[in-house]
Amino acid sequence: MKPDRCRHCSADLTDSVVNLGMSPLCESYVPADKLDSMEPFYPLHVSVCRKCLLVQLNQYVSADHIFSEYAYFSSFSSAWLKHAEDYVAAVSSRLGLGPKSFVVELASNDGYLLQYFVQRGIPCLGVEPAANVADVARKKGVETEVAFFGRETARDLRQRRGPADLIIGNNVLAQVPDINSFVDGVAALLGPSGTATFEFPHLMKLFEENQFDTIYHEHFSYFSLLSAETIFAAHGLTLFDVEELWTHGGSLRVYLRPSADASRPVSDRVRSLRAREEQDGYRDMAVYARFEQQVRSTKRKLLSLLIDAKNQGKKVVGYGAPGKGNTLLNYCGIREDLLEFTVDRNPYKQGKFLPGTHIPIHAPERLDQARPDYVLILPWNFKDEIMKQLAHTRDWGARFIVPIPEATVV
Ligand SMILES: [Zn+2]
Repeated sequence: MKPDRCRHCSADLTDSVVNLGMSPLCESYVPADKLDSMEPFYPLHVSVCRKCLLVQLNQYVSADHIFSEYAYFSSFSSAWLKHAEDYVAAVSSRLGLGPKSFVVELASNDGYLLQYFVQRGIPCLGVEPAANVADVARKKGVETEVAFFGRETARDLRQRRGPADLIIGNNVLAQVPDINSFVDGVAALLGPSGTATFEFPHLMKLFEENQFDTIYHEHFSYFSLLSAETIFAAHGLTLFDVEELWTHGGSLRVYLRPSADASRPVSDRVRSLRAREEQDGYRDMAVYARFEQQVRSTKRKLLSLLIDAKNQGKKVVGYGAPGKGNTLLNYCGIREDLLEFTVDRNPYKQGKFLPGTHIPIHAPERLDQARPDYVLILPWNFKDEIMKQLAHTRDWGARFIVPIPEATVV
């Protein structure tokens, strides 16, 4: 079989990172009347490019399919809103943004972030591919255009609206199939002294904390600082500063400027993180090859826990129906025989079934009625918040299973 090509540099992809088998799209929750229909499964096989070090998945579905009716509304999480508000305050003062500035956010979702620029009287525009989500943003007073961002959109925007002083992209870079067109667009829309900031999950955290369930078909790329620097540099953007964030299990926020603008030197924080990645072997193929072993070991441990619980006649249910839960459950082969049902606060998901495993999703009240012995926490990154919410289940002796980084009972 001919090897696949790197989505950034077109080199042959010969190095496998992890093969999670065949999985359905993680956001395609199944309604009751479709349970007997065929369901498409695609390979979830991650590779790394030897040349530019981009860790990536093949694209099997069009971006249009993924983004056009996206179920995720950013404003559902209060912690995420606070994160956005803090960022807007910090970046506005750092860059001295005011009523004459122009801010553009790519994949602006429901206006969860730009609303804070609107409050400060800083002109801004959202670019969002999902029309239903863009409508929600407009109702909040956030000007939003429905478009896929890339070279063409960027040129058109610059012509109509002028150059941007700040371009923001939070958790979008991983989901862009044509990364070269996207980053080229950023370079084209950015003013000569403009800044772009991007947030994305950090590959180092994914590896160190075994977050293999954050791998799914909608995430095409997984960035180290090293690969991000290489890709941006190829499009005339210099990565001059970086912050490490707690979000999504550990993310990077990188600051970019046109390479021609030498007034902002590359910070010590960039140099020190780059050195850490190099020390840990991120230029070396061995660090990528090791990952699969720890993933397989976690699968065996989680299955042992669930099988033991079932052998003892215990009742096990899930909490949450996040996309990442579907990678975990499909890869481990966990269905209703091991996990009776899960509950989720998002009404869009209630009454539907998890893709692939067909585990039913109920409203949270169902968990109290069932009085389970074990609750498997699928959104493990919010485990502290969830265990606090479910503290009352301790009254009947319930315990929690946290699957990542290593399946444990708490
Ligand atoms: Zn490459």
